[in-house]
Amino acid sequence: MSASDRNLRAVNLPADWTPSSWRGRTALQLPSYPDEAELNLALQELRNLPPLVTSWEILALKQQLAEAQEGKRFLLQGGDCAESFDQCSSDVISNRLKVLLQMSLVLVHGMRKPVVRVGRFAGQYAKPRSADSETIGGVTLPSYRGDMVNAPEFTEAARRPDPRRMIKAHARSAMTMNFVRALIDGGFADLHHPEYWNLSWVGHSPLADEYRRMVNAIGDAVRFMETLSGSEVHNLNRVDFYTSHEALLLPYEESLTRQVPRHWGWFNLSTHYPWIGMRTAAADGAHAEYFRGIRNPIALKVGPSVTPDQLLRTVDLLNPEDEPGRLSFIHRMGATQIAEKLPPLLEAMRRDGRRVLWVCDPMHGNTESTSNGYKTRRFRNIRSEIEQAFELHAAAGTRLGGVHLELTGEDVTECLGGARELTESDLERAYRSTVDPRLNYEQALEVAMLIVRKQAQ
Ligand code: PEP
Ligand code: MN
Repeated sequence: MSASDRNLRAVNLPADWTPSSWRGRTALQLPSYPDEAELNLALQELRNLPPLVTSWEILALKQQLAEAQEGKRFLLQGGDCAESFDQCSSDVISNRLKVLLQMSLVLVHGMRKPVVRVGRFAGQYAKPRSADSETIGGVTLPSYRGDMVNAPEFTEAARRPDPRRMIKAHARSAMTMNFVRALIDGGFADLHHPEYWNLSWVGHSPLADEYRRMVNAIGDAVRFMETLSGSEVHNLNRVDFYTSHEALLLPYEESLTRQVPRHWGWFNLSTHYPWIGMRTAAADGAHAEYFRGIRNPIALKVGPSVTPDQLLRTVDLLNPEDEPGRLSFIHRMGATQIAEKLPPLLEAMRRDGRRVLWVCDPMHGNTESTSNGYKTRRFRNIRSEIEQAFELHAAAGTRLGGVHLELTGEDVTECLGGARELTESDLERAYRSTVDPRLNYEQALEVAMLIVRKQAQ
């Protein structure tokens, strides 16, 4: 054990835990693979493949999240609802990165504090569903559970859970990770060149003007500092970027749970910052059991039905020794419910006194269907949930430390409203998500600007 790791050692390996101890609990939302031998072969292959991230990066992120818990940083976490194998392409990856970089620039500039940047990518391939099967025209087939499990087309072959898809998901995640790392190492995120992040399809918009004015002001400040000091300001060309996904498909996660030579304990090396989804968050369930034993910083989605007692039990289970940076709660209540459901949870945690990073997901409590059959979200509800979240935390004496968003750098029309006031009839123009509706570039940038305005109040 290195000296620095000894210092970080705030918890012990939990009793009776192994990477497979979740198998003794009820595991919701897992597919049933028709061929066990095929499944075991795929898992064996995964166990031999290299990891996607390192324990050093994971512990560095945990430190940044610990600082966010103290109000010294703000977390920006965003990306697709579900990545798809087809969309693992240069444009999709770099456009998503551009949006996240632009948003983080708006946040850093407006909040005057560093941002923790976390993508929902390089592994966001497994989805929970409200029903195990789907019936269309009298035919019943298993639900689509994300590209890591099966395919969305409504045919028997496509919907059959295929364990080889886990190998493909690992490869696609590695390609995504590799490209993001190469872009960042190559200077793509250099503050001297924010023009690298311009999206070619963005036409004239009032928001783009506001953004350009801010970029110019930052450019002036950077040049001024460089003139004063007579040299380049360092660290402006490097940013840290981390990955996250819902660690839903436990056989896959288990295969990438490893021990490493220089740090004690077990790490999930498929991502830096896994989260437990709302539907699998029960404290006695398989997912909580798996998460309890890994050393990554972890997050838990908290929906409107969670009681203060349940929340405190979750803290006992997932962060018994109150380790800094370890646990985040991502609340996703919905604009109409947050004012009623969130305060009792904030109050319980404030009284309890243990550390947590509070993050607002203004997307998942605000999903609705339009009369023309699209799953959508209204920008005004997303905005309202974020604004209420800031106010409710301020009133409770707690702190909103980040946001969790579904967004894309593609020119999609999936959420209603925003600066271009998209309407129901716009949805059919460019609705591409196979699962949940995402903010497009302009709507995402607008969210960043409203966060800045709101937190300054
Ligand atoms: C998601 O983040 O895509 C999701 C399914 O969220 P939740 O678990 O909060 O419903
Ligand atoms: Mn989603």
